[in-house]
Amino acid sequence: MQRNGTDEQRGFTLWFTGLSGAGKTTIAEIVEKELRERGRPVEVLDGDIVRTNLSKGLTFSREDRNINVLRIGFVANLLTRAGVGVIVSAISPYKEARDQVRRRIVDFVEVFVDVPLEVAAERDVKGLYKKAFAGEIEQFTGVSDPYEAPAAPDLVLKTNEETPEESARKVIEKLEFFGYLWTPSPDTEYNWSNR
Ligand code: ADP
Repeated sequence: MQRNGTDEQRGFTLWFTGLSGAGKTTIAEIVEKELRERGRPVEVLDGDIVRTNLSKGLTFSREDRNINVLRIGFVANLLTRAGVGVIVSAISPYKEARDQVRRRIVDFVEVFVDVPLEVAAERDVKGLYKKAFAGEIEQFTGVSDPYEAPAAPDLVLKTNEETPEESARKVIEKLEFFGYLWTPSPDTEYNWSNR
């Protein structure tokens, strides 16, 4: 969509779901930077951070994980309605809670950050897979708890087949395609080839 000078840009929730270590946070950071450079108001809701405040005290049981996702969705919805570009990166392993959030937030873009379990485990960004495979962490997604892959996400990113920058670019293009971001015209300073 090209800018016509009068339209306001709509808020949206960009929801990254996937295994721990799939690349949600890495891609979210690149997209956040890009959106800020384009002058968009942006807020990030990161699952790990939310669990230290908004969802402090919740466990990793199915019920608590769903409560966590619904809380994130509640905040994301308020911000989205206020015109903010909201980026959520949370494992959000269960379909029922994701779908509930999706139904509530009108402007919702679901991104499945898809990586084989072996690759995420090999990356082991936080050292958690080692512990999970040793039986030291109960209810660890992908190892001792299920991850229910989205059936019809808006975008699938195979992070073992592309770089974080390539993944982020696909996200930005999807936001442009849906009309949440203006396509940069040739005379704007912003240019992918500058990267
Ligand atoms: P998550 O937030 O899903 O738990 P992180 O973003 O913390 O995952 O970690 C993902 C790791 O995978 C990082 O070390 C990152 O550099 C690496 N990685 C490799 N390729 C990609 C890619 N295409 N997208 C995102 N991360 C990638």
